[in-house]
Amino acid sequence: MKVILQNLTKTFPPRGKKGAAPVTAVDNFTYEIPDGKLIGLLGPSGCGKSTTLSLICGLQKPTSGKIFFGEDDVTELPPENRGVGMVFQNYALYPHLTVLENIIFPLENLRGKEKMTKAEMTAKAKEIAALVQIDSLLDRKPSELSGGQQQRVAIARALVKVPRVLLLDEPLSNLDARLRLQTREEIRRIQRETGITTVFVTHDQDEAMSISDQIVVMKAGVIQQIGEPQEVYNNPANLFVAKFLGTPPINVFHGNVSGGKLYIGDAAVMQTKGVDDREVFIGIRPEGFIPTSEGALICAQKHMEVMGRDISIISTHPSCTAPTIRTIISAETDVNTLAETVRYALKPGKVFLFDRETEVRIPCNFV
Ligand code: ATP
Repeated sequence: MKVILQNLTKTFPPRGKKGAAPVTAVDNFTYEIPDGKLIGLLGPSGCGKSTTLSLICGLQKPTSGKIFFGEDDVTELPPENRGVGMVFQNYALYPHLTVLENIIFPLENLRGKEKMTKAEMTAKAKEIAALVQIDSLLDRKPSELSGGQQQRVAIARALVKVPRVLLLDEPLSNLDARLRLQTREEIRRIQRETGITTVFVTHDQDEAMSISDQIVVMKAGVIQQIGEPQEVYNNPANLFVAKFLGTPPINVFHGNVSGGKLYIGDAAVMQTKGVDDREVFIGIRPEGFIPTSEGALICAQKHMEVMGRDISIISTHPSCTAPTIRTIISAETDVNTLAETVRYALKPGKVFLFDRETEVRIPCNFV
């Protein structure tokens, strides 16, 4: 089921102090979520992710704009009539009910021709429990389960009515690092097996990038960029997106283009084509640095972190906008750990230029 969000805006009235301004949590959000895909809604705290999800679910009404599930205009429909399944960060299971009873619960409210017998409900709940691999835990109470198991029960409960759209709001936040990895793979598998159009909200870019077919990056209620995760990583539309995606984050320098060359300080670090002389922000991904004695970019080497497969060299440069530059290079690279400086050549595909004022990406060919 495709989901169409058409010029969605949600403004909350001012609260508290006199003269407080209204908050536009979602600002003219337009996007057609393709049928059967998993979409990661991504952005920093307060950017409007949860509000967007609440609008899709029907818990909030938009100030303006429309929402369609397929051809159906659901903008005015209450949540219970939209056919959505919701999973929240806190699993919100009923503590006094067993796992089986928790999963059956949404089926008990079905009326009319959808009404099911007890046997039908049990069969359906068991089928979904098998899908999320908790079928051996059906008689336990939620307090007898691990966090990951509880979250699977919550997912099973959201899936049991076969929703048209599945909405997940930070579903992995309460899990430890290992369980997060495992559960996000599970969510991906379940989504693929069911083919239910799914929107997944997170502020964790690794999480969103690893499981989403498409990511939507938001800032202050406004969509910054939509695309396949790798495409957005490789072609960020602006400095905000470039900084938001990637761990360690992109390194940003003040620089300028002059006479077909890109300068950081006095060093001409690249040849450019198609960019007029101007001041720019230069974003360089951590994996875009090649340590070499001929490198034009000379940084003060501070220390090194060995991380098994990779080494991270921490250095400084007066033109860098952050206190340190963090690069990632293969552990097999020969580096002088005692040197005071490190010289880098740069990989063209890992270097991006941005306008100093608007921070929008400047198209550029490096030669
Ligand atoms: P987080 O990752 O911290 O959950 P988020 O991206 O999900 O953040 P939202 O919860 O959607 O962000 O909030 C977006 C903005 O709208 C914030 O500035 C928030 O304070 C504001 N907001 C959210 N709900 C309300 C409300 N009911 N009344 C007033 N302002 C609200």
